[in-house]
Amino acid sequence: MTVVPRPLPDPALPRGDGRRALVTGANRGLGRAIALGLARLGAHVIVGARDRASGDAVVAAIAAEGLRAELLVLDVSDEGSIAHASALLGTLDVLVNNAAILTDHGVPGLEVTLDVVRRTLEVNTLGALALMQRAVPGMRERGFGRVVNVSSDWGSLAMMASQQLAYRISKAALNAATCVIADEVRDRDVRVNTMHPGWVRTDMGGAHATRSPEEAADTVLWLATLPAGGPTGAFFHDRERHAW
Ligand code: NDP
Repeated sequence: MTVVPRPLPDPALPRGDGRRALVTGANRGLGRAIALGLARLGAHVIVGARDRASGDAVVAAIAAEGLRAELLVLDVSDEGSIAHASALLGTLDVLVNNAAILTDHGVPGLEVTLDVVRRTLEVNTLGALALMQRAVPGMRERGFGRVVNVSSDWGSLAMMASQQLAYRISKAALNAATCVIADEVRDRDVRVNTMHPGWVRTDMGGAHATRSPEEAADTVLWLATLPAGGPTGAFFHDRERHAW
């Protein structure tokens, strides 16, 4: 299915408003499209990348459009790297947990090594959780925040099937963490949601995937710019609710 990005209704990020938005894994794939999209909506984008050179290239691409961005060298599975960024994380208005790995594609759950499961949980789940723990308290204090966790339909319990056990449980746990954190800040204008981007033409999705990173970024941008009173603690795909 081809999805044509729609204009964002009532954006909370009008051009120039300067919300500070971190996107993890923003040096390539979907993360790069999200970073560019947020910058075009007026955010001051912090390009999270563990590789400095490719992260810098995205900062340069944003700057070339006359928009604002800076690089944060960040390995989401490295506690030291996260601690180093602690002060910056406390100032965020928008956090997009996009970075992830998929290293058990096609591997039966009965055969995947526990090392692969552990590593996948470290990046896809604990990395995102650690960033929420550093960023969301500041959002709660200031009374504004938008968190978007990039998940997958492979993490949907309603659609659980064989193979990719490590990746599937990392995303199912990310969805659960989304609900818990969302509920803890429900009384403030801090919206914490999770989403499935579809099958995307990136290194992870492969060349035959059905949608471009820009198309897949649409729902992330929508969730990152939800107006006050928007949904929280929910799972989305193409701006519609997705089965848990
Ligand atoms: P890619 O594999 O193309 O990109 C993954 C990104 O995550 C890269 O920027 C990579 O950085 C980064 N990353 C990996 N490990 C770490 C780490 N430890 N610290 C910081 N960054 C890290 O994936 P996609 O762009 O396709 O995926 C983006 C998101 O969308 C992921 O959450 C994925 O699970 C989800 N998704 C993707 C689908 C698809 O079809 N593509 C389908 C469903 C969900 P580096 O360059 O350094 O490796």
